[in-house]
Amino acid sequence: MIPQSATQVEPLSLIKHTSLPEDWRVQLREAYRTPQQLLSSLGFSAEQQKLMLADDQGFTTLVPKAFAKKMRPHDPTDPLLLQVLPQAGEAIVDPSFNDDPLEEARFNPMPGIVHKYQGRALLIAAGHCAINCRYCFRRHYPYSDQKRARSEWQQSLSYIEQHPDIEEIILSGGDPLALTDPQLFELITAIEAIPHIKRLRIHSRLPIVLPQRITLELCQRLENCRLTCVLVVHANHANELAIDVAQACERLRQHKVQLLNQSVLLAQINDNLASLKKLSERLFDLGIMPYYLHLPDHVAGTKHFFVSLERGQAIVAQMQACMSGYLVPKLVREEPGKLSKTLYSPA
Ligand SMILES: *Cc1c(COP(=O)(O)O)cnc(C)c1O
Ligand code: SF4
Repeated sequence: MIPQSATQVEPLSLIKHTSLPEDWRVQLREAYRTPQQLLSSLGFSAEQQKLMLADDQGFTTLVPKAFAKKMRPHDPTDPLLLQVLPQAGEAIVDPSFNDDPLEEARFNPMPGIVHKYQGRALLIAAGHCAINCRYCFRRHYPYSDQKRARSEWQQSLSYIEQHPDIEEIILSGGDPLALTDPQLFELITAIEAIPHIKRLRIHSRLPIVLPQRITLELCQRLENCRLTCVLVVHANHANELAIDVAQACERLRQHKVQLLNQSVLLAQINDNLASLKKLSERLFDLGIMPYYLHLPDHVAGTKHFFVSLERGQAIVAQMQACMSGYLVPKLVREEPGKLSKTLYSPA
């Protein structure tokens, strides 16, 4: 059965925006850091909150107001709320769900680099994010060990210099756009100086959850970069893509940054045709091409979001039957020891 709320998408014009500080760093400081703050902002009474609160299992709540404002007040099933609110389901213990299902620790040649696939390497540019997504496969990642001091980038950069087969650097994290512009520009300049690198890819959820991060300075730096720049954003539901996000995307596109999206297929949030169709259509309107739809990983504490491979394939088959081919994302799963992500055809 499809929960009604997951299929309803607010028209852009209905999403209300009270003014937020222009400076994204101020917004980040003012983000909600407890479920109570978040739920109070959505109008839930103390009584209702008591029923909704659950242990956060050591993964703290973090939600920028720009994201919270797109949630429907008084709706405990809101698909944006459920991505960030600790739920009782996080306490479910299942031995097939563990802390490092992708065995990334094994492919970490040194702290800060994941070099698993040919031609491209992930550089962990920042240890933190602007939002904490409850389904995150990195929720157990030892970020404190990976704390990125400038001097540590140097190690990662030397590794890249010594591997001429790497042509593309993927800035990941955490969230690389959680760095300030001066920090990020320093890193980009260093990568640009490595002759065998051709492309710079940034994986970030900030353009979606805190779109004011897309400063003019950032766009200009990416446009002036020697490398071809691709920004892969992360949105899971059309309601995330309100007018402030559209403006950030417009600015990026004006500065010739290619935009792609990756989503995670999540129970309670987007695991139905109507939600994913609306998401793809809205992404395309914003100039973002749907890229990947990730099957959820077996991450401890995320079983309540799990969607099976078979269900994923069935939903993508439904999408393919009624949508333009370029609006249908590739259904993928990351499996340890493979040469690339595993692509699953619709069934
Ligand atoms: C997903 C991923 C990439 C990028 O893979 P593409 O298929 O090129 O998008 C690179 N390295 C790692 C470790 C990844 O998980
Ligand atoms: S923004 Fe990405 S890396 Fe950060 S918590 Fe969310 S899913 Fe995980």
